[in-house]
Amino acid sequence: MMKVVIAGGGTAGWLTACGLATRLGGLLDITLVESDAIGTIGVGEATIPPMRNFHQIMNIDEQAFMRATQATFKLGIVFENWGNIGDSYIHSFGEIGQRSWMAEFHEFWLEARSQGFGGSLEDYCLELKAAKAGKFATNVQKTKLNYAFHLDATRYAKFLRQISEDAGVRRVEGKISEVRTHPETGDIKALLLEDGQLLEGDLFIDCTGFRALLIGDALNVGYEDWSHWLTSDSAIAVQTEATEPPPPYTRSIAHASGWQWRIPLQSRVGNGIVYSSRFLSDDEAKHTLTSNLTGEMLTEPRLLKFATGRRLQAWSKNCISLGLSSGFLEPLESTSIHMVMTGIFRLIRLFPFGQDRDSLARRFNDETRVEMESVRDFIILHYKQTNRTDSDFWNACRTMDIPDSLAHRIELFKKNAYVWSDDTNLFRIASWVQVMMGQGLEPLEYHGAGKLMSTQALQQSLSEIKNSIDKTVQQLPTHQDFIEHYCAMPPG
Ligand SMILES: Cc1cc2nc3c(=O)[nH]c(=O)nc-3n(C[C@H](O)[C@H](O)[C@H](O)COP(=O)(O)OP(=O)(O)OC[C@H]3O[C@@H](n4cnc5c(N)ncnc54)[C@H](O)[C@@H]3O)c2cc1C
Repeated sequence: MMKVVIAGGGTAGWLTACGLATRLGGLLDITLVESDAIGTIGVGEATIPPMRNFHQIMNIDEQAFMRATQATFKLGIVFENWGNIGDSYIHSFGEIGQRSWMAEFHEFWLEARSQGFGGSLEDYCLELKAAKAGKFATNVQKTKLNYAFHLDATRYAKFLRQISEDAGVRRVEGKISEVRTHPETGDIKALLLEDGQLLEGDLFIDCTGFRALLIGDALNVGYEDWSHWLTSDSAIAVQTEATEPPPPYTRSIAHASGWQWRIPLQSRVGNGIVYSSRFLSDDEAKHTLTSNLTGEMLTEPRLLKFATGRRLQAWSKNCISLGLSSGFLEPLESTSIHMVMTGIFRLIRLFPFGQDRDSLARRFNDETRVEMESVRDFIILHYKQTNRTDSDFWNACRTMDIPDSLAHRIELFKKNAYVWSDDTNLFRIASWVQVMMGQGLEPLEYHGAGKLMSTQALQQSLSEIKNSIDKTVQQLPTHQDFIEHYCAMPPG
């Protein structure tokens, strides 16, 4: 049997163990090594909807997962103060209105607005309206909401560990002190632990987090730095008591030099501030964070440093990096855990069962790069598309050069209201529209399809969509009530 050694037992390590053991377990002998002394990063609590797909494929029961991780539901992210101070918009997980093959819904809405009706674009998105009303259900009559979760990262790793061990993964506790490589091929041969144990393997998965012990330290694979576009390199995280029922959304609140997250779990709230040390000191950041908390602090504020960018080859020789060791994009759109999951699917599809490894690795690396670049562009958009002029930080963001791929997208939208998405794009058309318009990017012109409809027909079709959404939201229970009957944690 092929021997696979997973180095690291954070979210990435245990997700990988779970994925490989439940899908390819019969073909592999899997060992995971983690160090209790080092621990895990302990953040990573907001997710996006494709996580449900991963769970389904891994046969993970949603209610059991939610109870075990204190999870709540997430319908999107509320962005406050991003376009201008005082502004607020929601990037929800829903579709907006109904599209035609010729033009997107927002283009029909732009036509309605030019004729003086149609209200707000927000009125046409079920998930957005449900989020605003604090309502939720997994499905109402025939309507299914598109949702993700807020979860406790430490509990999630434990939950995945249980599933993985039940599926045959061997866990070793200990600190890796040396990565042994083959003198001729350069492949990794074994991991030597401090207590003298030697873990030999055919394939190694580097899930050692920012340390990147295998792919970085041992194999010397370089890192492409993206900090000229995404300047944040620091975060401070702290947990607080919950002071209100959890809303079904994450909050992202922009400050003068960075932004703050609020992630509501069943019985506590995860908070943090993300900032660039070029514009804000650690002490100032801590002060901004702690003066904008509601609820007593349950933990000491914890400082984390990171480098934004990607590993030049996520797969090199017989080592595949997943999670923080393979690159990092700040958590603005909660994409890191998702990219671990797509990395696991990719590895399973391209698993090196035969003699050829290099062409599989090349495909793996190409797909990983394209995915990361498209997420990178979406995150940069939030910083670039701002009218804020109140600080050096926002002035630098507003005036920075951006990747051509993003500049082209912005130009297409600004001049034509045109947005596209394809299989290589994680973010859907509705996501781009919500963020671009939410941050004040107004199209100058748009597709003529709406003009082909009579005013009365356009009016009627918009009000039918809006009325049906309002009716559905009215019927939904509150998020809190739904959690209580669906997945409340056992007492204590
Ligand atoms: C501020 C911040 C906020 C974030 N928020 C989100 C979010 O909301 N949503 C999201 O999707 N993602 C988020 N992320 C990313 C998310 O936290 C990570 O993608 C996820 O936790 C995976 O981390 P990891 O398993 O790669 O690393 P880690 O959790 O750091 O795990 C590394 C593992 O390697 C082990 N290890 C390291 N060195 C050794 C050694 N020498 N010997 C033995 N074992 C070793 C450690 O013990 C640990 O088990 C955030 C990240 C940061 C920095």
